[in-house]
Amino acid sequence: MAEPLLTVRGLKAGYGDFQALFGVDIDVGEGELLALIGANGSGKSTLLRAITGLVRSVPDMIRFRGLAIGGMRPDIIASLGVSMVPEGRRLFRSLSVEENLVIGGERAPRGAWTLERIYHLFPILREKRRTPGTALSGGQQQMVAIGRALMANPQLILFDEVSLGLAPVVIKDIYAALPAVMATGVAVILVEQDVSRALSVAQKFVCIQEGKVSLAGHPAEHARAAITAAYFGVTH
Ligand code: ATP
Repeated sequence: MAEPLLTVRGLKAGYGDFQALFGVDIDVGEGELLALIGANGSGKSTLLRAITGLVRSVPDMIRFRGLAIGGMRPDIIASLGVSMVPEGRRLFRSLSVEENLVIGGERAPRGAWTLERIYHLFPILREKRRTPGTALSGGQQQMVAIGRALMANPQLILFDEVSLGLAPVVIKDIYAALPAVMATGVAVILVEQDVSRALSVAQKFVCIQEGKVSLAGHPAEHARAAITAAYFGVTH
């Protein structure tokens, strides 16, 4: 069988002497959405940072498109097709919406995602295309951050708590855009505080607890009580 798009095996990672992940395994196939859930401090962001090269790891612990990418430089990993929508969005606030999007597409391979397609996905961004990042609402900034990541034409996109602090109506718009993203074959890892919402769109999920996988599988395969227990570390 062909190797999945992304394979993480026995990943150990941390910060200096502090170990945050203790042997994590995940697989993500092309066009698949994996929800990564777990309590605060369980290690979700560390896993995303290891995949993007911001946290050190060992080459074979992370394989992407058949390449051992663990520990590669973040810019090289990005150029291989991994994009991140970081927590807090981190736009260039003095630049306009369109300038932020264009920067995301610099040096990107040709692919499904163009300015036109981003504006089709989030029509409000077309209206605001000349508006600076500073003048956007939180939800609009999040749409720009997603658009910027898509402009790189990635094969894998990582969303770190995209709905944090946003109004429910905006969260709905952002989630409504996910099927169009996946329809272009892009795989997604979604870190989300709202477990029900994440599981409602995911093909599979991984729950992390204190740096280890406490439960993994298809959302429909597990009772909600089992998922809650894996999340909070409660045993029955
Ligand atoms: P949250 O939902 O709060 O973002 P998380 O599941 O993403 O949580 P991580 O941010 O990966 O968790 O944190 C895992 C562990 O690593 C925590 O104990 C955290 O305190 C620690 N940690 C995170 N970032 C750093 C850092 N830069 N330096 C030292 N320790 C860190």
